[in-house]
Amino acid sequence: MNWHILIIRCTHKPASMAQEATNKLFREDFDAGPSSYDEIISGLFLGNLTAATDVEWLKEAKINYILTVDSCPLPRKIQELLPNLTVKYIQITDMPREDLLTHFGDSYEFIDHALESNNKILVHCYFGVSRSATLVIAYLMKKYGKSFSDTFEVVKEKRRFVGPNAGFLAQLKLYEEMNFGIDSTSVQFKMYKLQIAADKVRKAKILPQNCTELIKPDPALATVRPEPTVYRCKKCRRIVASASNILPHMPREKQIWRHISTKRTSKQSKPSHEPVEPQKKEEQQPAELCTKILFVEPLAWMPDITHKVEGKLNCPKCSTKLGSFSWIAGSQCPCGSKIAPAFYLVPSKVDWSNAVQNVQVTV
Ligand SMILES: [Zn+2]
Ligand SMILES: [Zn+2]
Repeated sequence: MNWHILIIRCTHKPASMAQEATNKLFREDFDAGPSSYDEIISGLFLGNLTAATDVEWLKEAKINYILTVDSCPLPRKIQELLPNLTVKYIQITDMPREDLLTHFGDSYEFIDHALESNNKILVHCYFGVSRSATLVIAYLMKKYGKSFSDTFEVVKEKRRFVGPNAGFLAQLKLYEEMNFGIDSTSVQFKMYKLQIAADKVRKAKILPQNCTELIKPDPALATVRPEPTVYRCKKCRRIVASASNILPHMPREKQIWRHISTKRTSKQSKPSHEPVEPQKKEEQQPAELCTKILFVEPLAWMPDITHKVEGKLNCPKCSTKLGSFSWIAGSQCPCGSKIAPAFYLVPSKVDWSNAVQNVQVTV
């Protein structure tokens, strides 16, 4: 589908004087096609921009909540004409690399509040196909504790042409894997966030301020509950990573979050590799896990990662080169795995060490 190209530009044309005089919006003001909407469950409508600006229909259907997920907000005029309307706006373009997952929580609250208080809500984007459908599916998944695939079928029965873009589909699956919430310890979620940030680095050449939360605290400075397992610089013994900072990978596997399923009970087609959570890594130590390169999260001791696209990672104490990073090109592990973005430590330059040593050094 070619929707993407159409949606990037803002399509709200200013209303002409004549239209303003009659206080009426015409469908011709927008080019999202004819008004199109479907009631997915009682009181929850999914539709296009034309429906969201069709004041007569909004009145008739008694819609008093509108959730807009689009590149432009709902025209102010709609609220002027419908003073009892409660609106919420999420600015997102219909691109696979857009982060809609982070908004699943707020949009859930907004939709649920509307429905639980017996109101009617319209969730819309431009065509009512990808972005708004994604939010409605995410809502229903969490509300009824159902899988993505079951929920997608239910929504498709009501609106046959719903079709979240490939990135949003993957985000919905990740949402299911995280049990309808955000699990910030999930390796898939970490890779997801890193890839969203890498896309921004690609454009801006620096890490934008709103992505700096991705940079994890320096594990050498952890005074509250230091982790039992850490990696140290082999030369000077400085702590350079803790176990939870490791992003494990399998030999020859692409560590692209959307290609990995962690769902144990999944009846999905692909047999899933089970990426081992870093905390469990030491107990389980599965033979398949590649140890040729230690991919880690970006860490606060890595000075260049916020303003360079790639570079070396030197020990912050003795300056020995421990590894490298690359936001865009990523790195290839000798096992064949290609990982991007990549922040890695070469295993021969670091030592694993246990809790006792950790405590001695950090206090
Ligand atoms: Zn060192
Ligand atoms: Zn490897």
